[in-house]
Amino acid sequence: MKLSKLKNSYDVIIVGSGIAGLYAALNFPESVSVLMLSKQERHISNSSLAQGGVACVLDTENDSFDFHIEDTLIAGGRKNDIDAVRTLVEEGPRDVLRTIEYGVEYDRDEAGELIKTLEGGHSKRRIVHHKDTSGKEMVDKLVMAVEKLPNVTLSDETMVTSMQRITNGFKATIMHGDEFRQIFSSFCILASGGIGRVYKYTTNPSVATGDGIRLAYEMGASIKNLSYVQFHPTAFNGANREQFLISEAVRGEGAYLLNCNKERFMDRYDERLELAPRDVVSRSIIMESRRLGNNSFYLDIRYKGEEYLKKRFPGIYAGCLKQGVDISKDLIPVFPCHHYLMGGIETDLNAKTTLPRLYAAGECACTGVHGKNRLASNSLLEALVFGRRAAEDIVRCINANFYAVKEQKEEAIDYKGAPLPKGTRTEIREIMQKAYFVIPDEGAIHEGKRRIEAILNRLRNGKFAVNVDYCEALSLATIAYIILREADR
Ligand SMILES: Cc1cc2nc3c(=O)[nH]c(=O)nc-3n(C[C@H](O)[C@H](O)[C@H](O)COP(=O)(O)OP(=O)(O)OC[C@H]3O[C@@H](n4cnc5c(N)ncnc54)[C@H](O)[C@@H]3O)c2cc1C
Repeated sequence: MKLSKLKNSYDVIIVGSGIAGLYAALNFPESVSVLMLSKQERHISNSSLAQGGVACVLDTENDSFDFHIEDTLIAGGRKNDIDAVRTLVEEGPRDVLRTIEYGVEYDRDEAGELIKTLEGGHSKRRIVHHKDTSGKEMVDKLVMAVEKLPNVTLSDETMVTSMQRITNGFKATIMHGDEFRQIFSSFCILASGGIGRVYKYTTNPSVATGDGIRLAYEMGASIKNLSYVQFHPTAFNGANREQFLISEAVRGEGAYLLNCNKERFMDRYDERLELAPRDVVSRSIIMESRRLGNNSFYLDIRYKGEEYLKKRFPGIYAGCLKQGVDISKDLIPVFPCHHYLMGGIETDLNAKTTLPRLYAAGECACTGVHGKNRLASNSLLEALVFGRRAAEDIVRCINANFYAVKEQKEEAIDYKGAPLPKGTRTEIREIMQKAYFVIPDEGAIHEGKRRIEAILNRLRNGKFAVNVDYCEALSLATIAYIILREADR
């Protein structure tokens, strides 16, 4: 959409069209005007890539809120915020059922009952899914629902480059190609997703550069536990930056993890074997690789047979086949890589940040639900529950004693300058990969922080052209700096 078509001000700007942003938008009444921005096309997000599904307690005969809470706390090393976990677990089922009303189809058995799968760290089968493309199904259907809302304007390929607080709201500078504008809003929900691109290898798509966290940090919001980074144990071990994920559900359905000698080895590290939480499995792989001096690891699910595998894991089957691996006949080469961020912009139970009228939901937020390590399939649930709660809290504010942002004059934007020096992002990634991967390298953290700080100062103080390259590099440097500063304590 041409930026000139946008209004001067909105009640709410939502930065991001992943599950958190989409579901927040669906929870505003028609009287609230919303502008939803996506850095690339609206379907491109971490949400769209989710494979495994959404964890929630729908079967109270065989499962309970207490079991789900306990599993979440065990995975999180009991560093979780218990009130946030309780809110997530108890309110989540209602939100998941509401997504069905918006058209999301989860797999069902012949009797029409929802099929629930198991993933690492879950003591019960409670993950509802759409084959192995759950996120795409959810995003596709929720996008269709949001597109029908008369009060929500969606603008694709529109990046927020900077944001400032003003009286009664925010001023966002946005960019679409080489067109710039300033848009004003009374409230803002940051739903800008993860930080994967701060690493050399990640399961996250290219939008995941931590922009929302950088914007919040620059405005002075509290950022919490950014060093709580999750590495997925079983990404496809290929040469691309964006590593194709082999979902935990593959181990949930019985895949074995093998070392370079094609032997199972998890019994050496954890009695839960392949179904230990993902941080445990990731660390076990790294320790096993050090023990054997070899980085080759495999998943073996061949024994389930072609027919079952094609039906249950069509995305993974096709994705691996593209890389020349037929999972019904071949071992799948895997290795840990960056996957998820537990920390982020600090929020309360209503997704409110420490700044007035600024909210954060989904992966960019730190609600405290995940503690030190996220339980598989709890993040889509978090995006739903706290995306909704952000919208509900804003509606409460609007209905109470509230002053809206006034029509504002836009100022000229100076976006011209030198191009970003080549290799800036690569340098940031290499520092992070060395200093702060699965088992952090204590020796490299301090030196890494010093180098990142120098890059950050250069980016902040130089006169660079404001474009996607520059803004993303600034975000990556900011994120890397906060992580290493936290780790260096
Ligand atoms: C491969 C993979 C598999 C996963 N599997 C599962 C799973 O099975 N179950 C589960 O619960 N979780 C899973 N996750 C995690 C989960 O998908 C994410 O945590 C969750 O979807 C994040 O949703 P979100 O709405 O917070 O952010 P995202 O879905 O990442 O959306 C971020 C949005 O912000 C926009 N944005 C970012 N910066 C800007 C900017 N500067 N200006 C404008 N827009 C911006 C982007 O364009 C995008 O629209 C998986 C993640 C990956 C990568």
